[in-house]
Amino acid sequence: MKYDYDLFVIGAGSGGVRAARIASLAGARVAVAEEYRIGGTCVIRGCVPKKFLVYGAEFSQMLADAPGYGWTVGAASFDWPTLRDNVQREVTRLSGIYTTNLAKAGVTAFEERADLVDAHTVRLAKSGSEFTAERILIATGGRPYLPEGLPGLQFGISSNEAFLLEKFPERVLIVGGGYVALEFANIFHGLGSKTRIVHRGDKLLRGFDEDLRVHMHIEAERGGTQLTMKSTLTQIERVSGELRATLSTGEHVDTDVVLFAIGREPHTAGLGLERAGVKLDEAGAVIVNEFSQSSVESVYAIGDVTNRFNLTPVAIRDGHAFADTIYNQRPTPVDHSSVPSAVFGRPPIGTVGLSEADARRSFDAVDIYRTSFRPMRNMLAGNPERTLMKIVVDAKSGKLLGVHIAGEDAPEMIQLAAVAVKAGLTKQQWDSTMALHPTAAEELMREKVSGPSSSA
Ligand SMILES: Cc1cc2nc3c(=O)[nH]c(=O)nc-3n(C[C@H](O)[C@H](O)[C@H](O)COP(=O)(O)OP(=O)(O)OC[C@H]3O[C@@H](n4cnc5c(N)ncnc54)[C@H](O)[C@@H]3O)c2cc1C
Repeated sequence: MKYDYDLFVIGAGSGGVRAARIASLAGARVAVAEEYRIGGTCVIRGCVPKKFLVYGAEFSQMLADAPGYGWTVGAASFDWPTLRDNVQREVTRLSGIYTTNLAKAGVTAFEERADLVDAHTVRLAKSGSEFTAERILIATGGRPYLPEGLPGLQFGISSNEAFLLEKFPERVLIVGGGYVALEFANIFHGLGSKTRIVHRGDKLLRGFDEDLRVHMHIEAERGGTQLTMKSTLTQIERVSGELRATLSTGEHVDTDVVLFAIGREPHTAGLGLERAGVKLDEAGAVIVNEFSQSSVESVYAIGDVTNRFNLTPVAIRDGHAFADTIYNQRPTPVDHSSVPSAVFGRPPIGTVGLSEADARRSFDAVDIYRTSFRPMRNMLAGNPERTLMKIVVDAKSGKLLGVHIAGEDAPEMIQLAAVAVKAGLTKQQWDSTMALHPTAAEELMREKVSGPSSSA
């Protein structure tokens, strides 16, 4: 045979594992290399462990809400090693399932780093072995971006280390204003840390709908997270056993942990892509066409390393579509429109489709339906947290363009709202569905929530 394998996948994360399994089950001879742990970012140090920590953090609010419902709550305390180790045990279990599923599908897994020698050859870093493959799939994901050159950077951590902290921090300083920053602020604050976000922008969550951004700012502060906007870190020092961060305003902040959550970059450095002639964009992402094929015929890329929509279900869909296209003779381009996403902050966000600002840029006239209220659950509890719901509609066709929710269960609601947006339903069709009472979601079904309040 001309090549050692039909397909060599680099990276056993969400996308790589799916592509490898489907290709192998279709009859291809497939190998995969993983330099850290099989399962990738989502399973090992992303979505999964994060969601468990979010669940853990939610208990503090439930305990605070309980007396309004007649409960007397005794002295409650939180033990970080218990939560951390339980989460890690579950992560290890899931990683094991991924490993087993690869083996069951007949995929050969190498648990070491790999790079490209040329457009058909992969080299394993530890063993030095080289393998040829008809096609190579780059599925190396992304990694936390760090402010290289910042004095004292070595005292900071990224989300990778946050899951494994030896000791639970009394104080946490989070640098960044994206979804990872907000989620870790929710986690640490909910588990009992004094939490502060420092962000160079004037608002959190760039790219999200403006009303959501304002709402989350208000709710984060109301909940007790300190927000310092338009500010950056200029150095970190270790002073008598604790960390001292200096802000661009000159303020010194004493803290136990500095967590950088200032974005992620495609994991392409040192992969040898230049040796194969694979073109990257200015962010270092592999440039691909709608079938995930790079500028080199035999090299494909999927998931976060292509920096299209950096979410697990997208990486999985990319991987499956690639395998179907090549090995099941079913050409399948991936449609990256109307991808729902969530932010597990306090309150959580669920969002799909266009923000109001993006809709106004693309459509002549836009109707906005918006409501903000204290959900029923919070009334007896005396909990001031508010929910925001917003629907963006094309005024001419009546089609739903976007749905944005910040409130309890918003991620659960938005998964289904995404069906309506993706299917191109109209607001009239949406409204013709009977509401379900008593729920928070029924507020989305009001014929006229508070609008149409404006059109341009
Ligand atoms: C803190 C955090 C929270 C997140 N929360 C969510 C969420 O709630 N929902 C959601 O949908 N997404 C979430 N994500 C994003 C999600 O994790 C990614 O979109 C997803 O994992 C991308 O899958 P992938 O296959 O492209 O890459 P990854 O899952 O990152 O897999 C890439 C793999 O390649 C390996 N690798 C890299 N280079 C090499 C090499 N040279 N040789 C061998 N192996 C290599 C890496 O070790 C890694 O295991 C989160 C991410 C983070 C960091």
